[in-house]
Amino acid sequence: AAKDGGRGRYHFYADDLHAEAEERSQLEEDLRDAIAQGALELYYQPVVSLASETITGFEALLRWNHKTKGWISPSKFVPIAEDTGLIAQVGEWALRQACEDVANWPEDVRVAVNVSPLQFSNPQLPAMVMNAIASAGISPERLELEITESVFLSDDEGTDAMFCALKQIGVRLALDDFGTGYSSLGYLKKAPFDKIKIDQSFVRGATEQGSRNGAIIASITSLAHALSMDTTAEGVETMDELDVVRLQGCSHVQGYIYAKPLSAQEATERLESGLQAIARGPRSARASR
Ligand code: C2E
Ligand code: MG
Ligand code: MG
Ligand code: MG
Repeated sequence: AAKDGGRGRYHFYADDLHAEAEERSQLEEDLRDAIAQGALELYYQPVVSLASETITGFEALLRWNHKTKGWISPSKFVPIAEDTGLIAQVGEWALRQACEDVANWPEDVRVAVNVSPLQFSNPQLPAMVMNAIASAGISPERLELEITESVFLSDDEGTDAMFCALKQIGVRLALDDFGTGYSSLGYLKKAPFDKIKIDQSFVRGATEQGSRNGAIIASITSLAHALSMDTTAEGVETMDELDVVRLQGCSHVQGYIYAKPLSAQEATERLESGLQAIARGPRSARASR
């Protein structure tokens, strides 16, 4: 009986794996179609300066409204795009689109674009970036590239050369999801980042009694400050979380407390309705509590 049970479970597991592989290859096929049809969109989440309480920029985030399945999370389709190499095409499109969109916004508003490790290892990236900036007619410092720690896994000369080339163009560089991956302080020494983005896993629960997250956030911000880098706390949802990241010295905040990712049109409207309006949101929320 035990043997049967074991075999039963094995079959069950194999079926599961099979279904998962099927779903993934179907999704891959649909993603190819979506790209070909121009069905991917970029949404923009405001980044708010705590000092000025204004929107200083937006992070561009991919969105895919699947024809039958509805919205599919980038955490699901970006890895597929990376595995299949489709990210090269998607990434270039996102770069161009984000530069075109930021060109419609006030000069002091920036846009941040996520760059996957695969794109980062492509020697054509600097040319692609220069091209996107030139076509949109924006100055390079209005573009920020978000890179994760995983690019340092292959710590070769190519990585150093890429940082050099991007810095020379004049774009800003941000280290995304800081503290979640292959964390080493060594690369902070040589990689010319303008900003560290503190992963939302440190923000979440930072308000709980006895949590170590507050201390971790404080040490990241003091390190960043010493290195003349900004810090953005990601995923701030509540007033309490906002209070903690402010107290621990973060310079910028991005999270549902201010705004969810918006369509380009909504982002434009948000800017036109006045920068102050959005940033004051939580304050008034606190006042009315
Ligand atoms: P990320 O770059 O770390 O982006 C931040 C994620 O946190 C976004 O998820 C955003 O919607 C979410 N977020 C922001 N504020 C809050 C909050 O207050 N609460 C919660 N729970 N979540 C919040 P999203 O849009 O689902 O993107 C997930 C990941 O997919 C991104 O993480 C990034 O790694 C990847 N991604 C998205 N767009 C692109 C892209 O154009 N290129 C590449 N290579 N990756 C992308
Ligand atoms: Mg990001
Ligand atoms: Mg992040
Ligand atoms: Mg992430």
